[in-house]
Amino acid sequence: MKKAKDILTSNNVVRAVLGLAILLTLIAVALVVSRHIGGGRGYSENVYKSLVTVESGDTLSKLLLAQGFTNNDVLQIAKVLKSDADITSLRADNDKIEFVRTDENSPVSKIVIIPSPWRQVELTCGDAGQWQCKTVDIERDTRVVYRAGEILDGDSFYLAGMRAGIPAGILAEVYDLLAFEMDFERDVRAGQKFSVLYEENFSNGKKIDNGRVLAVEFEALRGNVKMYRFKKSDGKTGYYDENGNGAIKSLKRTPINNAKVTSSFSNSRKHPVLGYTRAHKGVDFRASTGTPIPAAGAGRVVARSYNRGHGNYVKIRHNGSYETLYAHMSRFAKGVVVGTTVKQGQTIGYVGSTGLSTGPHLHYEIIKDGKHVNPMTVKLPAINNLDKEDKKKFLEYRKALDKGMEQLSKNPNWFIQL
Ligand SMILES: [Zn+2]
Repeated sequence: MKKAKDILTSNNVVRAVLGLAILLTLIAVALVVSRHIGGGRGYSENVYKSLVTVESGDTLSKLLLAQGFTNNDVLQIAKVLKSDADITSLRADNDKIEFVRTDENSPVSKIVIIPSPWRQVELTCGDAGQWQCKTVDIERDTRVVYRAGEILDGDSFYLAGMRAGIPAGILAEVYDLLAFEMDFERDVRAGQKFSVLYEENFSNGKKIDNGRVLAVEFEALRGNVKMYRFKKSDGKTGYYDENGNGAIKSLKRTPINNAKVTSSFSNSRKHPVLGYTRAHKGVDFRASTGTPIPAAGAGRVVARSYNRGHGNYVKIRHNGSYETLYAHMSRFAKGVVVGTTVKQGQTIGYVGSTGLSTGPHLHYEIIKDGKHVNPMTVKLPAINNLDKEDKKKFLEYRKALDKGMEQLSKNPNWFIQL
């Protein structure tokens, strides 16, 4: 079996960028075929442990009293939890508590509160009867995996992604990233291939959750779309295309994910309500009434109004020369008024069918320097571009990642261990 060390260091480019923090970890890597399952939390054998999952209606005092603690203990434990671990309440269906005894009938000697798979708060009682607590971060063993798929006839990207074994959460993130570059309605065709490089987090050999999306590739009609996650020297992370340009655009072409385009941008079309030919200055997305409408980009609300054609609409002015408009809303989002600044993805209103509309949909316009442009084809400005130094590092890092992906594509059961 070939080791990742050989794969990744067989390249001079890789050697040249050993200084990169992320590569330092990649170098220590081994591609492993089998996954071993382990267990246990690492306590010594002669203990008796019981694990309680916090349910709705449970409180710390209720659970502690049930284990035989006195009211005085409960107060002391609550106090130390608040001061030392910043825990003031338990979250139902999330937190777990482990009670540790030396044997079944002895009093609890240790309480372990588990608020996340990656954090444990351990409470122990000293000889003087004083409770103390210590927070332990669970060591995470992160494995980078590669999944590739192909769009089949009548497929959607989601279906193809699920078939390729990409978890739903990762797929949603990938969709969000690609939506900056692609029009899923018209760019997705049978025969297109895609691949994703992402992290899986393990603890004691057991998979706990998925991590971050590290790279995405999609063979789109307008050319390959590639995006890589990269950490700049200032510590900020972003996604970049293969040339190191920011992959996150200032605006989204399709504000609502997975919504079908029912009418495209056109300079002349027969209006469905008016009956005569009139330009369609935006794109219509079918969505049910009440679907949240996210702002396509960050900006300031310059109109929140009603007119006969648009019905309830919101207009946002973005940095630079762009404005976006969202029409036919059933209602506006709370707090969105003229002058409010909104973030990219923030809900500004809800889909409806107000104004001249034949059914619930979002009518979306992009206005550049006062002129309507086609949201599906307009070249959108990137945000978060790299400076010269970071770009150089990125290009070297990207080559190493590409090489890793190439190896993984030939050996789909392998993973890179960071
Ligand atoms: Zn329209």
